[in-house]
Amino acid sequence: MPLREPFVSSAGERSERRILLLRARGDEGHEGWGECVAGEVPSYSPEMTETAWHVLTRFILPGLLEREVLDPVEILRSSGWIRGHHMARAAAEMACWDLQARELGVPLGELLGGDDDGVPVAIALGVHADLGALSDRVQEALDTGYAMVKLKVRPGHDVEPVRKLREQFPTLPLGVDANGAYALEDLPRLRELDEFGLVMLEQPFAPAAWLDHARLQGALQTPICLDESITGEAELQLALELEACRMVSLKPGLVGGLHVARRMHDLCRDRGVPLRCGGMLESGIGRAHNLALASLPGFVVPGDLSESRRYWVQDLVTPEFGLVDGRMPAARGPGIGVEPDLDRIEVLAVRRRGFGDLA
Ligand code: MG
Repeated sequence: MPLREPFVSSAGERSERRILLLRARGDEGHEGWGECVAGEVPSYSPEMTETAWHVLTRFILPGLLEREVLDPVEILRSSGWIRGHHMARAAAEMACWDLQARELGVPLGELLGGDDDGVPVAIALGVHADLGALSDRVQEALDTGYAMVKLKVRPGHDVEPVRKLREQFPTLPLGVDANGAYALEDLPRLRELDEFGLVMLEQPFAPAAWLDHARLQGALQTPICLDESITGEAELQLALELEACRMVSLKPGLVGGLHVARRMHDLCRDRGVPLRCGGMLESGIGRAHNLALASLPGFVVPGDLSESRRYWVQDLVTPEFGLVDGRMPAARGPGIGVEPDLDRIEVLAVRRRGFGDLA
């Protein structure tokens, strides 16, 4: 899928997304959809679209065909012998959640235990060289109704744009996301960011830099929000035990699916740690799953659930996602509440593989 405009983060620039979709059909003819959040290259995580394709088609999906009754937790269990590959496993698990919710005739968010109030959302803005253009984008986002702005930062493009935005928008809920671009020797620079009243500093260091994150969090007022680090339940426990963060970005597609994500939500809620729902440049299918998860009560910080038109000229689902009164409305229909546009998917598809009745 071509992006409406190139997206720039500390990991580089992307102008299109290569997305792996999963379609599951139940005995009664209902269909559920899942989306793998893996990227095109292994810069965000070791997983990528190609590895997810391989692991799904070679290991996960053939193993499911021998089973009679499939609920999402069983899907997860059947691939539990696989080390890692949470993104590939999540895609299968989430397709099954959608299928189950459609078979039951309930919205997925409701099945997960969420409410239907909709979700306040943040817009993520890429690294803009031109600070004037950046403030225009922020103003535009506020006019559209976004509740928070998250700015991608990297060494050399951090304190200045944040200071400028703070001067112009003194009360704006503003966060920054470094995608792991810093190291502990950048502490003085990161301390400078502490004076701007940021909602959060997301993932300053590399995912495995637990001790460095704990040291930094001890030195800052601003909550560190771990994102890439939080790849599963054990990683979350480690982060909380070490006090390596005071906020958590949760992405069901990154942690192995909605079942695990819900358990992690419950843990954070018990500990009083605020959650935000992250985004991975998903199409409307993945976004719908994220929105369902974000309807759980622990998601109190605006999440990365932009409108469809923020990233796509045309999304893969109808209706497309749009803000209403500054919130992303909860799905009303069964399952993920949007319908995949099969013609559009057909036009964009470069490879397909079927199993069982869909072979
Ligand atoms: Mg992030």
